Amino acid sequence: MDRFHKETLKEVHSAKYLTSWHYIRFFSLYIYILIIFKFTVLDIAQDRFMRIGLCTAFALLFFRQIFMWRDNRQLLRTYHSLNEQLEDKVNEGIQALSKSEQQYKTLFENHPDAVFSLDMSGNFQSANTSCMEILGYTFEELNGQSFLNYVVEDDQYMARDAIRQAKTGLSQTFEVRACDKEKEFSYLQVTLIPTLVGNKTIGMYGIARDTTELKQKQRQVEHMAFHDALTSLPNRRKFENCLAEALKTATKRETMTAVLFIDLDRFKKVNDRLGHDIGDLLLIEVSKRLQQSLRSKDIVARQGGDEFTVLLTDVFSQQGAALTAERLLELLNEPIYVSGNELKITPSIGIALHPSHGTNVTKLMKNADIAMYRAKASGKNKYIFYSQEMSDVEDEKHFLEGELNQALQNNELVLHYQPQVNMETHEIIGFEALLRWKHPKFGMVSPAEFIPIAEETGLIIPIGEWILRTACQQAIEWHDRGYAHLKVGVNLSPLQFNQSNLVELVSSILEETKLPAHLLDLEITEGVAMKKEEQVIKKLNQLKRLNVQISIDDFGTGYSSLSYLTKYPIHTLKIAREFIKEIQNNPQEEAIISSIIMMAKNLQLTVIAEGVETNEQWSFLSRQQCDQIQGFYISKPVDADKVWDVLLSNRIKLASKNMLSL
Ligand code: C2E
Ligand code: MG
Ligand code: MG
Repeated sequence: MDRFHKETLKEVHSAKYLTSWHYIRFFSLYIYILIIFKFTVLDIAQDRFMRIGLCTAFALLFFRQIFMWRDNRQLLRTYHSLNEQLEDKVNEGIQALSKSEQQYKTLFENHPDAVFSLDMSGNFQSANTSCMEILGYTFEELNGQSFLNYVVEDDQYMARDAIRQAKTGLSQTFEVRACDKEKEFSYLQVTLIPTLVGNKTIGMYGIARDTTELKQKQRQVEHMAFHDALTSLPNRRKFENCLAEALKTATKRETMTAVLFIDLDRFKKVNDRLGHDIGDLLLIEVSKRLQQSLRSKDIVARQGGDEFTVLLTDVFSQQGAALTAERLLELLNEPIYVSGNELKITPSIGIALHPSHGTNVTKLMKNADIAMYRAKASGKNKYIFYSQEMSDVEDEKHFLEGELNQALQNNELVLHYQPQVNMETHEIIGFEALLRWKHPKFGMVSPAEFIPIAEETGLIIPIGEWILRTACQQAIEWHDRGYAHLKVGVNLSPLQFNQSNLVELVSSILEETKLPAHLLDLEITEGVAMKKEEQVIKKLNQLKRLNVQISIDDFGTGYSSLSYLTKYPIHTLKIAREFIKEIQNNPQEEAIISSIIMMAKNLQLTVIAEGVETNEQWSFLSRQQCDQIQGFYISKPVDADKVWDVLLSNRIKLASKNMLSL
């Protein structure tokens, strides 16, 4: 381009200044014509017409020459002016070119990404500062070296492939790990752009972005999405993914996989009593213990709350899974020290095996969960393998749930009544109302089966209201028939007791039925009494103000502190059947019964023994001066119509004064 420019200028220059040779060449023709004119027109041609003709011809020639000369000068001027314009344009072009060259250089040098060029063999030809910084080498060290030398061996195939493709004229983007001079890795996202001259690739440009930080962030986000923030263990999502993978492999290898569902017993109590911070530390410690007791290929995850799951792969027998569960139990039974507190925490473990207890993730998780609930229900601190019977129970539960919905409307619920007898006078002092469900197909369904379902579904609220009203109406009927001293006991479920309008409900039913409040005995369990102490005391005091009586049902089974007995406005302790049935079998239980009776007397509480079945039990309780008894020894719970028979037979027995042979 430069050369062309110079030559053009030279030509323009030489054209501007006509040389003398040009003048000679120009005028020689005219001189020659003048000579001819002299000879032909002035001397030779005598003919007038000939002369005129020739003169005209010469004149025309002369004028044409003059015009031609003028045109030529004009053309020359235009030519000069165009040349000047061209010269300006060329200058501008040169300036623009050098500017863009400058810009390119700046861009190349200062680009935050690594920019480099490679020859057709993939060797460095140029590299900017970022490229040198990322790889940690000077240009002299990089120059002529293969790009592949700086790529981690495992990723080299990707880079090699991309270079091969770029050589065919196709741009390529790929991600590799680069290894710098200090042998540190960085993630690079590389784009190779072929350098084309005409249609031929002569090399390639590369732009590489360092994505190491981005990768770390990505990994952090991924970790957060798949791990539990408190314990850093995998979370439910991750666990289920791993389980799905494990099941695929197990199916191929024909090995067993076990899912252990672990729930900590009474964790909520620790949380409530010692606070969430201690609860959190406890969970962290538990997660550490779980990890310690497993093989590195096993996975332990936190499902949420105090629930953990363990995945055991390559299990060869049920025995193998049982051994792991035993080890976990042993480890978790060791006391845990958290912030100066010695905590005893036990787990309930449910185990489901693949393929016998389920062939997919959902089924295995569900069945392990069901088995865990069974472990809890059957005494806690143990492991139980899933069995089909558990699902049947669950299915039945779901079935009953649907049926129970209709039970109240369909009048399928009835109350049975069990007498309570004064041990001294042998007189029936009242009846406990016990709920029964007369199912049209299944017959009588036990409350132990459907009351927990009613609790879970909240149906206990309308059902409970119906029980309270029906029992009070029934008691009024007894009173009207001459048994005005009889009280009626009504069981309150925890959910019912915690209802905010309980006191209003009791008060309005008493008003409605006209039952004297002191003849209504509300039974609450120890579990209810133990929770949210202040609120419970407040509620009990409100009930006391109504003049209603309060009994603690199944006393002694709630593992609770006895201190609450002094704080709560209660009237009666009902000693649980569990203790009574041990009379004559277990002196320790007998001692407990004596202590309860003694303590109750000191606190001026009435004691009633539940589930009395035998003469021996009666005698023992009588010796201990228990106030009242309830149980099959007197009568099983009977329906409302049979209450009269019970009352009547009691009268006869009283009359015969032969109670001990009842
Ligand atoms: P609970 O309140 O402790 O009732 C006493 C249970 O012991 C009754 O069982 C009764 O039939 C049974 N029982 C009484 N004497 C004997 C005996 O000598 N031997 C034996 N083996 N059992 C005896 P039931 O009626 O099956 O009730 C079980 C539990 O269901 C009740 O225990 C109570 O917690 C609950 N429940 C029953 N009716 C109601 C109710 O109307 N409302 C609420 N919320 N719960 C109820
Ligand atoms: Mg009861
Ligand atoms: Mg009871």
